[in-house]
This record gives sequence, C-alpha cells and structure tokens, in this order.
Amino acid sequence: MGSTQSALNFGAGPAKLPREVLEDVQKEFLSYQDTGMSLIEMSHRSKEYTKINADVQTAVRELLQVPDNYKILLMQGGGCGAFAAVAMNLINRTGAADYAVTGTWSAKAAKEAAKYGEVNLVFPKADKPGSIPDRSTWKMNPQASYVYYCDNETVDGVEFSYIPETNGVPLVSDMSSSIMSKKIDVSKFGVIFAGAQKNIGPSGVVVVIIREDLLGNPMKCCPSVFDFTHIAKENSVHNTPATFSVYVTEKVLQWIKRNGGLDEMAKQSQEKSGLLYGAMVASGGFYSCPIDEDCRSRMNVPFRVGGGDEKLEELFLQEAEKLRMHQLKGHRSVGGIRASLYNAVTLADVRLLVQFMEEFQKRHAKQ
Ligand SMILES: *Cc1c(COP(=O)(O)O)cnc(C)c1O
Repeated sequence: MGSTQSALNFGAGPAKLPREVLEDVQKEFLSYQDTGMSLIEMSHRSKEYTKINADVQTAVRELLQVPDNYKILLMQGGGCGAFAAVAMNLINRTGAADYAVTGTWSAKAAKEAAKYGEVNLVFPKADKPGSIPDRSTWKMNPQASYVYYCDNETVDGVEFSYIPETNGVPLVSDMSSSIMSKKIDVSKFGVIFAGAQKNIGPSGVVVVIIREDLLGNPMKCCPSVFDFTHIAKENSVHNTPATFSVYVTEKVLQWIKRNGGLDEMAKQSQEKSGLLYGAMVASGGFYSCPIDEDCRSRMNVPFRVGGGDEKLEELFLQEAEKLRMHQLKGHRSVGGIRASLYNAVTLADVRLLVQFMEEFQKRHAKQ
C-alpha cells in the first residue's frame, strides 16, 4: 500500500494540485453528482459536461476579469500545440511575426512559427541567458502580425515583471506557468494561452483567451482542431474535449476563488519566492541563482549548489527525496536544482525546503 500522505512536490509540471481538489475529485469519481456514472464516462454533450464547460469559462473570466470582447477557448495539443496554433491563426495578416526569445519555450515557439511565416527575433539570442534585454533595445517589425513573448520561462526561471508595449501590434503571451498567479490587464493582449498542467489543472487542456477581432483569418492549412475561429464558434466542443482535465481545472479555479483570488495568489507567490531567493543570499554563495534580479521568476526558481558542483547537487536531490521533497531536479537542458512554487505549493512547504537547504549547507559546505 502506498502512503496517502502527500509529498512535498516542487515539480515544474505536471505539478502539485490542491489536496482539497483531489479529494473532491476522488469523492465523486465513481458517481458524479449522484448520476451513478463517472464524469469521464459521460458525453461531452451531456448537461453535466455542458455546465462544466460553461463554469470553467465563467471562472476564467471572473478571475482574470476578461473583457466581453474576448473569447475563452479550451483546446488540446498542449502548450506546444498552441505554438503552432498561434502562428496558423494570426500570422496570415502580414505573413510575419515578432518573437522575444527569453528561454527554452519561447525559442521553441519561434521555431514552430517559422514553419508558417517569417519570424523576426526582436533581440539576438540572449548571449547571457537569464536576462531580458531592455524593451527600448528591441528591434520590432512594424509590419508584424503579432508580437510574441513567454511571460514566465518555466525551464530557465525568467519572468517578465511588465507587459511589453507593442505600439498597437497584437500581443501574444504564453502564460502556461504563470497564469492565475497574479492579476493581469487582459485588454493589453491579443491572445493569452496556458497549458493547464503547470498552475491550474492536469495536462490535456489549454486555455486560450483571444480578442474577437483576431478571429476569422486562419491559414488554409490550419486543422479545425487548432482553428481558434472554429473552436470559438463551437464553444470548445467541436470534438471531444479532454473532459476530465477540464473538470479538474474548473475545480482548481473554484479553489483559487475560495482562497482569495489572484490578489492572494500573487501575495503568496511573492512570499514563497522571496523566502527562497532570500535564503540564497543568506547562504553567502553556497546556493546561487544565475538569473538577473529584475527578471527572476516567482514560479520556477532555478539554483546551483556549491557553485554548480554536480556531485553535491546529486546528493542534495537524494537527501531531499529522503525528506519527501520531490521533483527538484533542474530541467535536463540546464541542470542544477529547480523549485517550482505554483499556487498549490504552500509557504509551509517552502519553509521546509529552506530549512533543509540550511542544514545541508552546514553539513556539506567546504570550510
Ligand atoms: C510546459 C510549457 C510548455 C509546453 O507545454 P506542453 O503542454 O508540454 O506542450 C509551453 N510553454 C511553457 C511556458 C511551459 O511551461
């Protein structure tokens, strides 16, 4: 029998979800609202799923205060599917798009978009990873169909602290790992998308928020399942959606609402990440973060141990595992340690991590 006690999960995605939500799902798993059927056995055209589909859209609209002239879509294909979908739906206007590449995911998005049109990188690939070149230095193409950036680079730990100005060109943002962690002014965006499995649900569903005037111009090659205009028209039930993922996501959004909404999520993510970055400063260099201070992520905190001593980092991970602190390994492309601090991760979880870091340093730092 496995333990039912929850571990300390610092995973980057799929990631920790609120225990309360999982228990709720468990409770109604065999019989959804006394129907005698599981939700995952029900038609996506049933009245039960129709309500979930409506409720999840309402919750996104309320939490992010999405204006009336935006549609909310629930799609599949993951964040990577959205990289292609964004290009196929938007690049047609002028055939070109601007991309700000600040890390792994925006680099992939730019590469994907280049299959469909001309991609201009607004600054050269950062010679120093872990920084965002000042907005005044970006070389924008005034003819771009849209300007694309990733609000929070999950792998690299780089987060924008502002919304880039685009002089009227529609702005597209990948918010997969930062959505619902802070308030945002949706009216500044053309499109926002987020794969749910980082901060708001299980894998399988992507939330897309799109300004209505950007609909209606997909490329001919765009598959119907990726066609924002078509999905909007079909109210996100063009074909079978990931019903279970949407259902759990709806529950997570209600949990956020019950727990103080985005003001509270923002406050807590400041506290949690502040505690961890503060601990690094206090360690006198034993723990170090390679990211510029003005763009350090509140959601994914990468750090090195002993100046990047891989043996010591391996030991750090092993000892952490023994304390049931899981999924702390940095992404395979960057190495080191990464602690992801999504909404469901508590301040108490982070305190335990920091305590472990202090003890580990005492035992292993070279005197
Ligand atoms: C995880 C992630 C993706 C990729 O999502 P998939 O669902 O695995 O395709 C894209 N962008 C960001 C910011 C991510 O964190």
